[in-house]
Amino acid sequence: MMPPVDELQREIEIRGNRIAFLLRRSGRARQIRAEIHLHRGLRVTLPHGMEEHEALAFLHSRGTWILRTLRRFERLASVIPERALTDGARLPYLGRELTLRVSRGPVDVALTSDVLWVQVPVRREGTVRRALQSWYFRQACAVFEERASALAARIGIRPVRIRVREMKSRWGSCTRAGVLTFNWCLILAPLGVVDYLIAHELAHLKVPNHSPAFWTACEEIYPGYQVARRWLRRFGASLVI
Ligand SMILES: [Zn+2]
Repeated sequence: MMPPVDELQREIEIRGNRIAFLLRRSGRARQIRAEIHLHRGLRVTLPHGMEEHEALAFLHSRGTWILRTLRRFERLASVIPERALTDGARLPYLGRELTLRVSRGPVDVALTSDVLWVQVPVRREGTVRRALQSWYFRQACAVFEERASALAARIGIRPVRIRVREMKSRWGSCTRAGVLTFNWCLILAPLGVVDYLIAHELAHLKVPNHSPAFWTACEEIYPGYQVARRWLRRFGASLVI
């Protein structure tokens, strides 16, 4: 059972800009969180027991990030159309384009050739989106694990562990101990982009900074990574469901 979630439409003024946002209260959230969606704008998740004025203070503390991201997304939203998750919609997956088929029944997602079959008890967009997100997330776990061991073998470095997460503003990260973390949304990008991100984090196990030695290590693991890096800069914001 999902805990109940309340959603309220609110507004805040940050440095003279009036910004509408969606305030969600969630029983599952441990801490206050702000996210900006390319098409749906700013949303704030507030754990139960926290007051609304705490959300406002939090948003003010992140004013620069909010204004900068909203401005950037405004330009991007006009070139990247919002995906309607209805029957027949097109969805990216590792550089392929899948056709979505939605039917009613217990939650189930299956891929056969280029058709992604989604079964949901109610044909509501949010329900379809959640079912898809958890399917994509599972694929991401398997693909990242497999690609990481293939790429790591090229330089004889072993990551300790591969984790896939929901990340707000990054594609990947690594710890000194050798744990590599990746944003699950990368599974929406072509495989070359996934490989580049893995190569990037693996290279950090050799060189922690972004010095020329780091990029040489990147090239060693994944020759021609520059194409994928440019792709991510240009189209990264489109990797959303
Ligand atoms: Zn880096």
